[in-house]
Amino acid sequence: MNELLIPSKIIHSRRRSLALVVDNNGDLIVRAPMRCNNESIFSFIIKKQNWIIEKRTNIKNSAYKPINYKDGDIVPILGKNYILKLGEGKQILFDNEFIILPVSSPEKSLKKYLIKLCSRTLTERVNYFCSAYKFKYRQITITSARTRWGSCGYNNGINFTYKLIMCPPEVIDYIVVHELCHTVEKNHSKKFWQKVESILPNYKQQEKWLKDNKCIIEII
Ligand SMILES: [Zn+2]
Repeated sequence: MNELLIPSKIIHSRRRSLALVVDNNGDLIVRAPMRCNNESIFSFIIKKQNWIIEKRTNIKNSAYKPINYKDGDIVPILGKNYILKLGEGKQILFDNEFIILPVSSPEKSLKKYLIKLCSRTLTERVNYFCSAYKFKYRQITITSARTRWGSCGYNNGINFTYKLIMCPPEVIDYIVVHELCHTVEKNHSKKFWQKVESILPNYKQQEKWLKDNKCIIEII
């Protein structure tokens, strides 16, 4: 059996169906009903093998690893990699290549900081492209979405996940332009892509970066 198909954990509980989860560390976790035997579990895994292998391979090959709030973890912010250090203070400090998080609440502090930075940066970038290219939007909402970088609703309200702030500035600009183009073209039509390209001729490079680094959305 491919080693990527071996589960790290099988959790039996009072549930009706089998479910598979690949977590941020690439561990395969099986959730199974109380009396489900190993045979049914493994045939379920085999059925889902393509999905599991793809997901685990992506995590293994990613340049970005889950942040476990330990000294030495890498925290990307605006595309720059900072080395995490825990400190006694109550504030987040930056020291050349280090980000120093309060040891009492490293996770909460980092998330709060990133949400604030994301909100400030995204508002600035959206307004820049709106005044340069005459887009109109309703409001910007910063979310904690885990699967998509941004979205644009029918009323032209735009959502961005705060995790976007980990990406390089040119990638952030691409997501901003992508969502703003949805205020005029709701689907991914030819016209839509022409509009994106007219503003960002190199947008395909940013799309490639997002494809190659899609795990970054899951590291926090
Ligand atoms: Zn889109």
